[in-house]
Amino acid sequence: MTHGHQLRLYNSLGRRVQDFVPSAEPAGMYSCGPTVYAFPHLGNMRAYVFADTVRRALRWKAIRVRHVVNITDVGHAVADTDTGEDKLEVAAARERRSVREIAEFYTRAFFDDIRALNILPADEYPRASAYVPQMIDFTATLEQKGYTYRLPSGLYFDTAQDPRYGELAQLDPEGQREAARLEQVPGRRRKTDFALWRAEQPGQRRVMRWDSPWGWGAPGWHLECSVMSIALLGPHFDIHTGGVDHRELHHVNEIAQSEAYLGDGLPWVRFWLHNEFLQLGAAKMAKSAGGAPRLADLTEAGYHPMAFRLFLLGGHYRSQLDFTTEAMDAAQATLRRLVARVQPLRPLPEADTLGAAIAAAATAAAATAAAATGAARALDLMDAAIAADLSTPKILAVLQDALRDPAIAPDGLRVLAAAADALLGLSLGTLDPADLEHRRSVTELAPEELHAIEHLVAERTQARKERDWTRADQIRAELDQRGVQLTDTPEGPVWRLR
Ligand code: AMP
Ligand code: ZN
Repeated sequence: MTHGHQLRLYNSLGRRVQDFVPSAEPAGMYSCGPTVYAFPHLGNMRAYVFADTVRRALRWKAIRVRHVVNITDVGHAVADTDTGEDKLEVAAARERRSVREIAEFYTRAFFDDIRALNILPADEYPRASAYVPQMIDFTATLEQKGYTYRLPSGLYFDTAQDPRYGELAQLDPEGQREAARLEQVPGRRRKTDFALWRAEQPGQRRVMRWDSPWGWGAPGWHLECSVMSIALLGPHFDIHTGGVDHRELHHVNEIAQSEAYLGDGLPWVRFWLHNEFLQLGAAKMAKSAGGAPRLADLTEAGYHPMAFRLFLLGGHYRSQLDFTTEAMDAAQATLRRLVARVQPLRPLPEADTLGAAIAAAATAAAATAAAATGAARALDLMDAAIAADLSTPKILAVLQDALRDPAIAPDGLRVLAAAADALLGLSLGTLDPADLEHRRSVTELAPEELHAIEHLVAERTQARKERDWTRADQIRAELDQRGVQLTDTPEGPVWRLR
């Protein structure tokens, strides 16, 4: 009775909505994580909010899950190609820091955003750099099985040997592939073939380098996800997530090498789930393009992270979303109204699972039998919405309607707010409405004030360069008095208004 509607998810493998029943419990779930060479941008965060929605849907259905999110701190070449420099190494040279410092700094930034967005923590966050020996073993197995060939630039996976190659992307077999980025690799047999090992070139010496049967070098960038997911979730698992860009290349290659490695004829992963992109204007947001907005830019402009979360969940994950200031303003206003309406109902009951929500609703029903029917119907609508391929916009709409419905008593509303919160993770039970007031934005500053602040920040940087810590501290105190919050980053100090 507490099962409610059958959970159905859109599987990119086959491109259809299917019943999701875990093959085992806990269900294994792997999400492609960040490449930690720059701040995660708002588009990246859509991928993790989406994975979090999957987590919450599973919890709602009382399906236990073991979730792994990787941290790519080695192996991802610039421009997603097979040759060329590693993204981490380029960032380290640019910022005059060690690769390790770069990775640590941006990994921390990623966790800050995860926390700010109320994303449930994964069970494991393996780092690619810690799994290189396993990646070498995995590759050696592929070589023994005859799936590889060697070139001066490295060891390549021979995609011609995989009759199902590209099934996920639904590529035509001749591989007219945009996603392969048409990189010229001398000697490569097919343009879909990809590097398992990127060998150091004569005269080249990578910063991150390992010895291998194919010489000194670094692993190819698809390898880590296959190796770490199999190591931590077992050979086969239920769910793999990522942005839709990965459906065309990265996940295609993960599948090819994993199925070749396992060689048991079974599909490696049962459900492939992909979120659509968050668009910034017409341009695709990419960290490497520079200037893509991140969460800190939003909070600096006076938006609450939960407003961004609500903005994302106001669209379905398989639709593209356009990021605009107007949409953010609307999301923040909606959140403010929701919180104002929910605040008098606090404390909210525990309703993370459908079973708990129904139990709470039953208690509410005992209190006011007539009013509970409206609440029970709304609860059923929420369950139907999450079960129908994670329709978060529908859940929001049901909650908003219920909060306006005079026939639903406070006890019923309490359960509904808790249920929506469990699924959407908007912190409706705890947010302070005062935090949702628009904060002073830098654009509202008088030009003289802006000039004075920038002058002080520059002066402090100079004082620090001269190791005049007393002066630097004095300036920080003065900035503090002007309501300026200062953070030192590898790119220099950044500031915002409180
Ligand atoms: P990366 O750090 O570049 O490896 O990407 C991390 C995750 O963000 C991957 O799942 C990407 O598919 C996803 N992603 C990148 N850009 C966007 C975007 N604009 N909208 C949604 N997801 C994105
Ligand atoms: Zn991956």
